[in-house]
Amino acid sequence: MEPASGVTKRLVERLSKATDLAVLTGAGVSQESGVPTFRGEEGLWKQYRAEELATWRAFEGDPGLVWSWYDYRRQLVSDTEPNPAHTAIAELEKGYPHFSLITQNTDGLHDRAGSSAPIELHGSIWRARCTAEQTVCDLLESPLPDVPPHCPTCGALLRPDVVWYGEPLPMDAYEHSHQIASRCDAMLVIGTSAVVHPAASLPLVAKHNGAFVVEVNTAYTAISALVDATLLGMAGDLVPEIARRVLEAVGSPGGATNPVSRTASA
Ligand code: NAD
Repeated sequence: MEPASGVTKRLVERLSKATDLAVLTGAGVSQESGVPTFRGEEGLWKQYRAEELATWRAFEGDPGLVWSWYDYRRQLVSDTEPNPAHTAIAELEKGYPHFSLITQNTDGLHDRAGSSAPIELHGSIWRARCTAEQTVCDLLESPLPDVPPHCPTCGALLRPDVVWYGEPLPMDAYEHSHQIASRCDAMLVIGTSAVVHPAASLPLVAKHNGAFVVEVNTAYTAISALVDATLLGMAGDLVPEIARRVLEAVGSPGGATNPVSRTASA
């Protein structure tokens, strides 16, 4: 691991020589938009911790309570905007022949920032799933008119279309992400504590397969000792700087050379 020394020339060179970039994001990328992470005091709602509410057991016991928490989070997110880190990730996409964004976030802010196809490993708070038929529908109204909401087709209880603690990830999203991690030649890991598995293993899969892995976080994490570089700081400062310098180097909009010539020299 390199010491946290900012966005060095070498780091920009390594990232700009990659032709297949994967970006993995966690709650930290949305923190500067005003969406709290689950860690520490700011993750509390009333007296509850997220781990006590984001479970099937909690939902079964009191669906109204769990939906009230989601209704609160949905309103909180709808009052926020994507921040410069989300926007820079959407910009970075233009600089690579192959680009993938994998997010653990459920807030929809990558979509709103213009990312074309974020893989939402943990689902979205803007969708719901029928507990009887398992059909998925958009649920965009905020605040919700009815808590808990019911399926417009069959009347059964709806649940948020998110992955709760103790539940497996959707197989297709995980397999797709695993493939991306196995084949990418660089990965940016932004604002994740890398303790929620299996998402946390993706940077290690990438590293194991020879990718250059860079972490952006306000603190060292469980994977810091294993990645190529950890940049300590706010995602909203560091990611736009990385994107600007990499896009300049690869000659994407605003840069000097053509991405194809960059590929040839990689
Ligand atoms: P986490 O809460 O475990 O960790 C957040 C990480 O972000 C920490 O390592 C922290 O040091 C870092 N961080 C905080 N502010 C930052 C900033 N401004 N810039 C850079 N880094 C910053 O989040 P996680 O790893 O994503 O895992 C928790 C789970 O909670 C995930 O499954 C996620 O789906 C869910 N979650 C999602 C949201 C959301 O959708 N916005 C919010 C809270 C939790």
